[in-house]
Amino acid sequence: MMKTTRKSKREKEKKINFFEEFIKLQKHFFKDINRRLKSVKDPRHKSYIEYGPDVILFYVLMKNACGINSMSNMTEQFNKDECIENVANILGCELEELPHHDTINNFLCALRPEEIEKIRDYMIKELFKKRSLENYRLLDEYWCVAVDATGLFNFPERHCEHCLKREYKNKETGEIEKTVYYHNVLEAKLVVGDMVFSIGTEFIENEDENVSKQDCEINAFKRLAANLKRKYPRLPICILGDSLYACESVFEICSSNNWKYLFRFKEGRIKSVAKEFNTIKELEKTGNEQCTFINGIVYNQRTVNLIEAEIEEDTDNKKTYTFITNVKITKRNADEIVSFGRSRWKIENEGFNNQKTKRYNIEHANSLNYNAMKNHYLITQLADILRQLYEKGVEKIRDLKKSIKEISSSLLESFRTCLLTKVEDILNTQKRIQIRFI
Ligand SMILES: [Zn+2]
Repeated sequence: MMKTTRKSKREKEKKINFFEEFIKLQKHFFKDINRRLKSVKDPRHKSYIEYGPDVILFYVLMKNACGINSMSNMTEQFNKDECIENVANILGCELEELPHHDTINNFLCALRPEEIEKIRDYMIKELFKKRSLENYRLLDEYWCVAVDATGLFNFPERHCEHCLKREYKNKETGEIEKTVYYHNVLEAKLVVGDMVFSIGTEFIENEDENVSKQDCEINAFKRLAANLKRKYPRLPICILGDSLYACESVFEICSSNNWKYLFRFKEGRIKSVAKEFNTIKELEKTGNEQCTFINGIVYNQRTVNLIEAEIEEDTDNKKTYTFITNVKITKRNADEIVSFGRSRWKIENEGFNNQKTKRYNIEHANSLNYNAMKNHYLITQLADILRQLYEKGVEKIRDLKKSIKEISSSLLESFRTCLLTKVEDILNTQKRIQIRFI
């Protein structure tokens, strides 16, 4: 980069108040969010309340938005007069001190996770109202919701009654050599362009220590699907998932909910369908240069459609992808279907890897209490919606071409050192800010 361009980038950056931009963005999309943080059902006894739920939740939200990965680091970073005054100004309350991290965790130990989910649902519903995301529907109709599970925490000893348990046995003697206790989560993410927003969360967990069969991803999907249908009864949805989801129970859920699905397909998952697809494919080729598809393959009481595409991963590396769907495939929509099918990887990449390694370190247990862990995880999902909109929608920020981590540190620096001026103006202005996705 030329010296002068570097200098002009620095100059540009100096003019930006990163925290103010963050608050403006929050106001633009979710003007009611602070009131909602305040009105969660507070589980604490009234006489002990020193900090309102909005103060606590706002701090934890900012902890995540600034990429701080532990509670003690949060206390260290946020313990600044400017920071405390910023929070007091934004929430319109008196605040002399930052809440102690024990106060925060005690609150999160008792708060019902549904209370945070309600705020997430509010945010997602507000996003649907914005026309700026309309372009990202599949075939101009379906909102794509990618589902996938990931591991959150591992423990060498039982951590709580809901832990999943895996035993590693010695191959020769069959003796148990090692037992691991762990927690996984199933996420449903709304895929909009390069962004993935949490729209449903289901913790994969056993009811108690003595279950005969452990909870699993497909079971969690059943619960997740029921919640999604209850919350968004008329939303046209297409579920995206890996080959695990290509099975009768999931097809049935999708068709009874009136949803479309689009899953990776692997031969071993449903052999009869794979066989028929391969036979017909030999006889009559339908598709275009890049792909072959066949509609109406009979499976149990239904028919399924398959599409196979060769995709150039990079020069001289082609990979064949097969998808199974209940969307009718035509020559015109074939490419779009394949590209949406492939966008499922975003939940792994944008969704989980970034949340683990770049943005918030979701594998770090901020508390050992299972309920608090869930709440921390869910607050991270709220922060993640805000962060992605911030990185991709605010032109000033996007133009800087900074990495995720650099944005985290600029936001943190600004939150703890620059006093927000004219907070009233920011919060009450009717002037819309410019948000554009490219
Ligand atoms: Zn546990």
